[in-house]
Amino acid sequence: MASSNGAKTEIVELARGVYARIHEGLTNAGIIVGDDSVLVIDSLRVPSFARGLRADVRRLTDKPVRYLVDTHGHWDHAFGNEEFTDATIVGHVNCRRELEEFGEAWRANVIARNNDWSEEIKTVRITPPDLTFDHRLELHFGGRRVDLVYLGRAHTSGDIFINLPDDGLLFTGDVAQDGGVPYMVDGYMHDWVETDTRLLDLPFERFVSGHGPIGAKPALVEARDFIAALVSNAEGAFRDGQDVPRATETVRGALGGRFGGWRGFERVGDGVARLRSQTG
Ligand SMILES: [Zn+2]
Repeated sequence: MASSNGAKTEIVELARGVYARIHEGLTNAGIIVGDDSVLVIDSLRVPSFARGLRADVRRLTDKPVRYLVDTHGHWDHAFGNEEFTDATIVGHVNCRRELEEFGEAWRANVIARNNDWSEEIKTVRITPPDLTFDHRLELHFGGRRVDLVYLGRAHTSGDIFINLPDDGLLFTGDVAQDGGVPYMVDGYMHDWVETDTRLLDLPFERFVSGHGPIGAKPALVEARDFIAALVSNAEGAFRDGQDVPRATETVRGALGGRFGGWRGFERVGDGVARLRSQTG
């Protein structure tokens, strides 16, 4: 399937009734078909993308969508929420708060970038989750356990993980990718390392990230090590009196051998700058 900008989508069945919808170069989603209804993970970036996702759901099943789960509030995951107001929209309390506080700034940012979504995003009705939780929400959905888990701040203040323990599956949102540098501009760099470490304790073998390919657990060890190495090398550079551009060069040099081939490695400086703003 090709979308208007030519990027391909692919539906991958991970377990009976559990699907990853992988959108090449853009944002992935998840679809869980239960006994009498459907749970969707992330509504994507604009209403037309959300409608494309719902069309894919209809191709899989005629059951209604009962839950939409937002992995976090970022526009490219949650600005399609308005197409799911017939469902209960679930997210972390901070996901709701960030959409309310920062949603308009994210919209302005996309408009200013003048990209494929800059026109449609002007019309988006920002729609925060209507069912929020703090730490953990266990759904018993269509005979399977679906745990929504908050492990602390990381990529945003409101990232949750969707864990299907009996299927060994995890949806990570944007906290971690298989071989890709996450977007760090809104991140909490110190907390992120700890959140990643807790994430490794969840029962899963395979994961679906918000971006990039489906991965296996060892890739999340790499993802944790990347953030940890970025933080420790950048802090060392700051202690040596380096400013953000010089510290970025230091970090690129230190991390390039192990992580230089990752998607988005050129964005390392975002994490260094963010850390600087969060370090005394
Ligand atoms: Zn994000």
